[in-house]
Amino acid sequence: MTTIPTRRLYTGWFLAIDDEHEHAVTDEEFSRTRAGGGLPEAVCGHAVSIASCMSPPGPHCHRCERYLAARETFPDLATRLDPGRHVHRKPSLLRRLFRAG
Ligand SMILES: [Zn+2]
Repeated sequence: MTTIPTRRLYTGWFLAIDDEHEHAVTDEEFSRTRAGGGLPEAVCGHAVSIASCMSPPGPHCHRCERYLAARETFPDLATRLDPGRHVHRKPSLLRRLFRAG
């Protein structure tokens, strides 16, 4: 059995006090800020000042949802798990046409 080292993305949704939206924060980012202090940064870039867990849920942040949905559109599982590995080898037809002009 072969094991492929990958960087997985596990996220939790946290309600932010300032904008009252839930943002997706990776487990790694959450644990980093728990150990070192500071506010966790959501996948959309928002620094999340986490509301009490007793607060009612809020709407999901659209930027976080789009980020997570975009990751699902990568062509294969290895790229979805680690987008940094995705490299275009050849520019698209449109890019080549517009670059030539
Ligand atoms: Zn967000």
